[in-house]
Amino acid sequence: MHGNNFYGTIGSVKILAVSDQVIDRMYSLASSGHFQDVRLILGCGDMPYTYLEYIVTMLNTPMYYVPGNHDPEFSLRDKRSRAEGGINLDLKTESVNDLLIGGFGGCIRYRPDGVNQYTQIESYLRVIQMLPQLLINRIRYGRAMDVLISHSPPYGIHDDIFDPAHHGLKALNWLIRIAKPRYHFHGHTHFYRNNLEPQETVVGTTKIINVYPYKILEV
Ligand SMILES: [Zn+2]
Repeated sequence: MHGNNFYGTIGSVKILAVSDQVIDRMYSLASSGHFQDVRLILGCGDMPYTYLEYIVTMLNTPMYYVPGNHDPEFSLRDKRSRAEGGINLDLKTESVNDLLIGGFGGCIRYRPDGVNQYTQIESYLRVIQMLPQLLINRIRYGRAMDVLISHSPPYGIHDDIFDPAHHGLKALNWLIRIAKPRYHFHGHTHFYRNNLEPQETVVGTTKIINVYPYKILEV
């Protein structure tokens, strides 16, 4: 479908998003055609990078990810701090398959020595770092972002106010409000306690989706 845009047809992109849990049956799902036509892999954090590398090798399609609080701190010098074959999208935006994707790694700080953890105020400062790119996108493409991936959920949405490690980030609510992505994929919150919790919430023009443990979506 790509390449038809000159003629007014917007191609759809099939996305596989993964977070937080290794899916042992990934191989059988792939061989049963479950991931057929997937054109984009999104990692929302807390996955072993070797596992992300396995998925990108298997599906052979672009992969973008953000680190979670159980992932190592990103370092250019350390190969183990990144997933080969994928792009760490933390605080960046990229255009791929006619989609503008933006990334925001980490979660709320709940341990003084934890990596990829940020206070609410630090998270706002991180979003501020993204503003120039969002502005450039708006000038260049007429929109700031189509798809946001983050590890943390926004504040008050799919988060857990009773658990300090699972408070959502208020800066993400702000980012959604100013960038207006059509989709926001996040991880970090697992609903093993209460399966009645919603996995999708619409805020304004954004559909917020809890990826855990994986989602397939055509956008
Ligand atoms: Zn997490």
